[in-house]
Amino acid sequence: MLHAFTVDVEDWFDGVPIDPLEKAGSERRLGIGMGVLRELLDDRSTKATFFVLGPVAKEQSALIRALASDGHEIGCHGWSHDLLYSMTPERFRRETEDAKKAIEDVSGTRVSAYRAAYFSITERSLWAFDVLAELGFECDSSVFPVRNWRYGIPDFDTAPGPVYTPSGSVFEFPLSVVDYPGRRLPATGGAYFRIYPYALTRLHLRRLEKEGRPVVFYIHPWELDPGHPRVAFHWKARLTHYWNLGPTAGKLERLLSEFSFQPLGGVMVHELERHRT
Ligand SMILES: [Zn+2]
Repeated sequence: MLHAFTVDVEDWFDGVPIDPLEKAGSERRLGIGMGVLRELLDDRSTKATFFVLGPVAKEQSALIRALASDGHEIGCHGWSHDLLYSMTPERFRRETEDAKKAIEDVSGTRVSAYRAAYFSITERSLWAFDVLAELGFECDSSVFPVRNWRYGIPDFDTAPGPVYTPSGSVFEFPLSVVDYPGRRLPATGGAYFRIYPYALTRLHLRRLEKEGRPVVFYIHPWELDPGHPRVAFHWKARLTHYWNLGPTAGKLERLLSEFSFQPLGGVMVHELERHRT
């Protein structure tokens, strides 16, 4: 089975809640994690979906062009990396349109896949689907069907499928979850991939494979750069941000050797066929 491999292309400071001025002066280290990641993917001839943050596309245009010419799928990770449910729909529309255009101009590809900062499409920001459809996005992978202090729609359908809006439909790929008696856990990805022992990630992937469900795996370049600067912010976010960074590259190498992945677009073609039959 081919699972989806996705990357949120942002620097170490983009996903931490620090002052925008401090971010502007922060050391740029995106190339470090991206270098490790591209090598690991190349070793297994694996193509992925890279959700790029608008300002990153502008600052690192050569890197984004290289990803596109390597045959990876280029998606959009928004502009400000703020929580969607903290924005008005108008602000979300404006900045997502700007980000999509910047990423398309730099990459020379059409951008039709979206992922929200911090998976922040929740009950409070379901209007985002309408905006995404209006802006021409065909698929999204922003809903985590779990309960989390910052994100999650616990009762959202865990299977990929279309979300209908007045502006058209968007095909949603929820982040993967595994149900245990009385408790649902994220299957893997990001902090969960780092915190879980590798054997648990493998168990979850095998279980979902048996159920015929492709997994949506996700990772950030800074998770492959254990030397990135430590800064102070909210303890809950800090706890998972810095946990177990060192062994991530080794775990990822193992994951790529034991399972097969493709970009989200490829999984969508497969799922659409399933929906038709
Ligand atoms: Zn992000």
